[in-house]
This record gives sequence, structure tokens and C-alpha cells, in this order.
Amino acid sequence: MPSIRDLLRRIQSHPALLGDCLLCHQPTQHHPLLCDECRAELPRIVYPCPRCGFPLPETSKSCGACLQHPPAWDRLRIVADYQAPYLQLIHQLKYAGKIECATLLGRLFCEANEPAPSEAGDKHPEVLLPVPLHWWRQWRRGYNQAEELARVIGDALQIPVDSHCLRRTRATPPQARLHKQQRKQNLQAAFAMAPFNYRHVALIDDVVTTGATAEQLTHLLRQAGVEVVEVWAICRTLRHPSRD
Ligand SMILES: [Zn+2]
Ligand SMILES: [Zn+2]
Repeated sequence: MPSIRDLLRRIQSHPALLGDCLLCHQPTQHHPLLCDECRAELPRIVYPCPRCGFPLPETSKSCGACLQHPPAWDRLRIVADYQAPYLQLIHQLKYAGKIECATLLGRLFCEANEPAPSEAGDKHPEVLLPVPLHWWRQWRRGYNQAEELARVIGDALQIPVDSHCLRRTRATPPQARLHKQQRKQNLQAAFAMAPFNYRHVALIDDVVTTGATAEQLTHLLRQAGVEVVEVWAICRTLRHPSRD
């Protein structure tokens, strides 16, 4: 006669209640789906520059490049550089319809930036604004990955998400394929905004690549009266303008 404990254990380890780790595909009971081994091996940036995410040897106000050429936004929060396994997870989220990757990546963002806000007096933004996709691209994908990430992060940190504030008015080629001058032209008049009264916002994106999109949106938001613009993303490949 099995004990209740044995029965419970058997029920909880039933294959129907398990999922496969999104990285190694071994069964795991953790939700979101990441096993302990894979979680332990996740690369993190311990002391990122608060303006650009560049890894620093110790906690510091800003890296030298940001002191000389500060980015348009006030703060950048990320999890890690754009590398394995984040690269694969983001790829699955964007191109393979694996929307559950947003849950995992959003939670990893909250863990990496916990306790956030970290500095005394540092306040959370009042709203999260997902970087918009052009409607055609969103229609083809079925969702905007930035919005999915924003929902997970907003739920965890209790910050509302406004998905209607920012709109992409024309489809633009991916920034990473373009030269610096082309990037600026590429983004000109690419965005529109609905009226709002926000003073402190966080733009949400999956990856900050050249930073040109975030910069363009930061300028637009400032013109509309926003005082503090943060950029929250899972990863960065960002380089400083001086290193471009
Ligand atoms: Zn695993
Ligand atoms: Zn920096």
C-alpha cells in the first residue's frame, strides 16, 4: 500500500506535469522551463555599466566611453551580452513561435536586476513601453516579442505596460545590417506616439544592437516631456559611438 507521500510524488513526477528544459531538453519540473544545471551555467554580467551595459571590473558609475559620450537614455538594464544560450532563446521566441521563452527571459531579467531599483532613491519607471514592430511584421509573427517580455516583467515588478503608446509607422530593414549613416536615415519618421503624460518610462526590447532604435525613441519621448528614459532588454551587442 503506497503512502500518500509516495502517491503525491508519483503524481507530481507524472510526465504530463513535466516539461522539457528549453535549453537541454531534459525533463524539468521548474517553471519557466529551465533545469538547475542550465540555470547555473547562464552567463551574467556582474558589474554592467549603468548606461551601456558594458562589463566593468567592479561596480562603477559609468564606463569611460559613457563618461565621454553618454548615450541618449538615462539607464540601460540587461541580463547579458548577446551570446549563447540567450541568443538561442531569443531566436526561438522571435522566429520559432516559442512564446514561453518570453516567460523565461522576462524572469531572468527580473532576477538579474533584483533588487531593482537597486540604488537608494532609484524609482521604478511608471510604465513599460515595448519597442513596437511594424504591424505587418507583428501580424506575420502573431505577436511582438518585446510586448511579451514587457508583460512578464510588468507582472513581476507590478509596472503597467502600455502597448499602444508607441507605433512603428513604416517597416524598416534590420538596423544591424546597415552602416551608421544608413541607420539614422532608416529610422527617420519610423515611429509615432499617442498622447501621454508619462515622466519616467522604460523601453522594452529583446536585444539592443546598435542602440539606434532606442536612441531615436528616447529623443521622441523626451520631446514629448518624458524626463527619465530607461532601456530594458535581455541582451546587448551595443558598442559605443566612439568604437563604431
Ligand atoms: Zn537544461
Ligand atoms: Zn558605458
